[in-house]
Amino acid sequence: MINVTKTFLPPIEEYHKQLQRAWDNQWLTNRGELVLELEEKLKNHLEVSNIIIANNGTVPLQIALKILGKGGEIITTPFSYVATTAAIVWESCKPVFVDIHPEFLTIDETKIEEAITSKTTAILATHVFGNPCNVNAIEIIAKKHNLKVIYDAAHCFGVRYYDKSIFDYGDVSTCSFHATKLFHTGEGGAIFTKNPDLHHKFFYSHNFGHNGALAFHGLGINGKISELQAAMGLSVLPYMNEIIFERKNIVDFYNSNLNLSQIQTLKIRKNTVWNYSYYPIICQTDEQLLRIEKKLNENEIFPRRYFYPSLNTIEYVKGEVMPISESIAERILCLPLFVGLSTPELEKIVSLINENL
Ligand SMILES: *Cc1c(COP(=O)(O)O)cnc(C)c1O
Repeated sequence: MINVTKTFLPPIEEYHKQLQRAWDNQWLTNRGELVLELEEKLKNHLEVSNIIIANNGTVPLQIALKILGKGGEIITTPFSYVATTAAIVWESCKPVFVDIHPEFLTIDETKIEEAITSKTTAILATHVFGNPCNVNAIEIIAKKHNLKVIYDAAHCFGVRYYDKSIFDYGDVSTCSFHATKLFHTGEGGAIFTKNPDLHHKFFYSHNFGHNGALAFHGLGINGKISELQAAMGLSVLPYMNEIIFERKNIVDFYNSNLNLSQIQTLKIRKNTVWNYSYYPIICQTDEQLLRIEKKLNENEIFPRRYFYPSLNTIEYVKGEVMPISESIAERILCLPLFVGLSTPELEKIVSLINENL
């Protein structure tokens, strides 16, 4: 069976060596030695100003929305994982959807201004499949209207744009270290901001507001990651260059062997160093997608319809019609992409697709 992804696992001895440190310390959480070391290593690896690692990629979104969204209207994309919209609703803000660009699949910045009202507090956009939003245009709009910018950068480990980490754009970026993501800690995530005041707020927010044992810097929640998860991160991190290299080879194989006159693939924005995190194909019709999916499934190959459905259509939001996002969501399929996918397996996937276009 071939799934859309397969979690990268380091040699178990290396994980064990990291776990031994937690045993030696008899210390499992509350920002222990392993968490602090992983933060330092990630900061260097990613070349970011600041990082707070967290228990997943959703709580950081909630913390950012709580502090910057303030219960207002949040301009957001309908084409993302459900966590993006759910976090907005969960934090008692109102999602206001803006349709996406048909090729980059990120929020269409030219349609943002018409969605702004006096209640708008922030823009929450997703760098879809590691493809950057038009961050420079969004920054200009946000400055003009005094809005905060939050990026759901869950897919963006290692992505650079105009020669700096994508995590350093916007007021805040969040990442996910879930087992299905490029870099992982089993469950985990991170918050990035280059603003020292915001960093301070996010830091205290993710640990109940604790300022030492007896005092508090305001309201907080539990967003802490454990030493056990940091042990996984410390064991996976040394393999990231190899992981990205192998994934690049798979993406190159798809690009040179799929019949791309019949299907659309992701257009990466110029000046991006991409991370090969996903390989979506966009079919011409939903019938074509269903036909390809069925053939692959019959051969024990399970791509994923991601993202589906368009988030403006889910039952707890009353979003307006988003024609481009809804159409893409009906036709997009992410193909298997993971370390260890063999050439014969790739050949089989490609020929099943090409024969059923
Ligand atoms: C995975 C993902 C999240 C949620 O991250 P978790 O670590 O699973 O909480 C949020 N947004 C996007 C776009 C994602 O892909």
